[in-house]
Amino acid sequence: MTDTYRRIVLASRPEGWATVDNFRLEELPMPPLAEDEIRVRNHFLSLDPYMRGRMSDTKLSYAEPQKLDETMGGRTVGEVVESRHRDFAVGDTVRGMLGWAEYGVSGAGGLTKVDARRIPLSAYLGVLGMTGMTAWYGFNKIMDPKVGETVVVSAACGAVGGVVGQLARIAGIRVVGVAGGQEKCRYVTEELGFDACIDYKTAGDAKALVGLIRSAAPQGVDAHFENVGGDVLNAVMTLLNPFARVAMCGLIADYNSTKGQMPTSAITQPVIFITQRIKMQGFVITDHLDLWTEGMTALAGHVASGRIKYRETIADGLTAAPEAFIGMLKGQNFGKQLVRLASMRELP
Ligand code: NDP
Repeated sequence: MTDTYRRIVLASRPEGWATVDNFRLEELPMPPLAEDEIRVRNHFLSLDPYMRGRMSDTKLSYAEPQKLDETMGGRTVGEVVESRHRDFAVGDTVRGMLGWAEYGVSGAGGLTKVDARRIPLSAYLGVLGMTGMTAWYGFNKIMDPKVGETVVVSAACGAVGGVVGQLARIAGIRVVGVAGGQEKCRYVTEELGFDACIDYKTAGDAKALVGLIRSAAPQGVDAHFENVGGDVLNAVMTLLNPFARVAMCGLIADYNSTKGQMPTSAITQPVIFITQRIKMQGFVITDHLDLWTEGMTALAGHVASGRIKYRETIADGLTAAPEAFIGMLKGQNFGKQLVRLASMRELP
């Protein structure tokens, strides 16, 4: 093991779009391990849209602000390289919140052991991690669709959206995705099995977007999973059937707005709530950890049987994280965006 490790801290808060200058790479001495502590070498770091909210010091995000000059927070998976806790041994594979860093130290409460023998370690940050669970919760507990209904999912090619659509397909429900670009739409329909996918980038304007989604959902929309906001949300709102359910998961279209800017996600026709008797529910997955075992059991079964497929976009090395993060916010990822920090072969 080396005497030093590298981490990335938040150097400044962005105004509008995050840039690589908002981050700083640091090299620090490896801290000593106190009794009951565990040292983990991180293999993968998860990059998630909520991190952009944490970079700002406002109440508009669903996550607490990240402190300046501290390690950027984030979920990680890795391998125990040193342990002073009796329940963790060198070689154990674990998930934690050790942030944008090559190594991390944690107590037992901050780590969960994961089995990387049958399922790749990285999957515990995506389809079998927080994003998979978010999809499972919003689909089952809020959208709750019935056979014969039509559902729509935005950011359909992403980590959360791709799983939502596959859960719908497995349940025999017509599912229409909305994604940016023909290549993403092809993947969503041909690989993930969505019934249709609308490329919102070719729509031109909001009215045309409504027309495109209507053509893929001629019976109207009974449930919607919102990851994006902006024009996509308003387009789907106009197509909702009576008693439709909307799972409000994320509004990424507004995460890089400047302070005081009107959100593009403002709902333009709130009367639809009454005329169509809509139920719209926002949620934050960390409020529902009591359902983790139920959700994970279902998802693990689908992944093991091949009914749920997943794709990862992997950037190599800690220094690649800022650019990969900004790229993900701009839609450059297919499926779950990760950073590879080490590989099993390099260990111990
Ligand atoms: P994704 O893997 O879906 O990556 C983000 C995607 O958002 C991009 O690939 C891009 O896809 C799309 N996007 C970005 N900007 C826009 C835009 N202006 N208009 C339309 N699409 C856009 O990320 P996740 O699956 O991790 O997260 C999806 C959403 O779920 C986010 O809003 C996130 O904040 C939210 N979330 C919420 C949680 C909760 O507890 N409420 C938990 C986890 C995630 P494209 O190329 O198709 O535009």
